[in-house]
Amino acid sequence: MRRCTRCVLPETYPEISFDKQGVCNYCQTWTAPISPLGPEKLDAVLQHYRKGNGQLDCLVACSGGRDSSFVLFELKERWGMHPLVFNYANGFVASQAEKNLEHLTRKMNVPLLRVESKRHIQEKLFKSFMALNAQKSRAHVLNQLCVGCRNGIWGGAFKVAAEQGLELVVFGESNMESMVFRRILARQLEPDFTAKIKSTISMPGNFVQRKIQEQQLNREFPLHSEKYKHLVKLNYFAYIGWDETKILETLDAIGWQAIDRRSAWRFDCQIHALGNFLNRQLYQFTEKDELYSKMICAGIITRAEALDKIRLSQAQKEQELATIASLFEKSKIKESLRDKVLGADVLQMG
Ligand SMILES: [Zn+2]
Repeated sequence: MRRCTRCVLPETYPEISFDKQGVCNYCQTWTAPISPLGPEKLDAVLQHYRKGNGQLDCLVACSGGRDSSFVLFELKERWGMHPLVFNYANGFVASQAEKNLEHLTRKMNVPLLRVESKRHIQEKLFKSFMALNAQKSRAHVLNQLCVGCRNGIWGGAFKVAAEQGLELVVFGESNMESMVFRRILARQLEPDFTAKIKSTISMPGNFVQRKIQEQQLNREFPLHSEKYKHLVKLNYFAYIGWDETKILETLDAIGWQAIDRRSAWRFDCQIHALGNFLNRQLYQFTEKDELYSKMICAGIITRAEALDKIRLSQAQKEQELATIASLFEKSKIKESLRDKVLGADVLQMG
């Protein structure tokens, strides 16, 4: 497969073009992300909230995955904060992520609060969207896999912080994670008015169900509320540069484990395995190709290193399929719907 000669984006990446030297349009228009604000500025913010007497002074949202585990560790050990750890249990959390979270919080002696949606609304939403989108295309399924989690993660964190009287809410999301590919896909699949009406009529029961479930989740974990007005939201990586090597070294030293260290990114939710699988089936690449391309442009890794990492992640298909099989089983998704979503490759699942 042809790839950009500077980054590693493949020819199957949406809206890609190459110049005479084989350099892609994304490389040509790439602009460096805004530099992190730095440790002094971070300390100035934290100083304002730090209690230093063992009392809780902030909330940190942690999935048990790589980046948020690192942020939790840094907050406690490097910056002397005493965080309440908030974890949104969306019903699809990988067991290794759960173990990490328990291990880390015990080791650091910080309280962990796991919150899940009452009546499993998140799981129900996942199923309703899958049924609706499978009718349209597999690309539609991929486009709306993560529906509802924003409410749980952000809304849930705000809600708990407000209830616990904590004003500072810390997240660990790097801007490397924001996928251009996702935005292009969403735009390409955005239905026009007629298509919306058509899809509503085709599955009226599903439409009503989804609307109710979305409302329930939004009522349970609202993203905006008067009660949140005083909260300060801090993204750790806006201050301290995101550095994959340093993150992995830190986590290794404290006994944090990924299913596979080489592909530690986004293993924390089982749904990501399905996303990866569909991405690869439909477009012959995954989010990693884009992440590594950005890392090349930012001078974090070389092109050769990126190609190595991609090769390694491709070798993990077996693990991915096992995760997907358990995801479908647990969600009690009908065989016919499963086959539609997975396509012919379902045969390999045994
Ligand atoms: Zn490129």
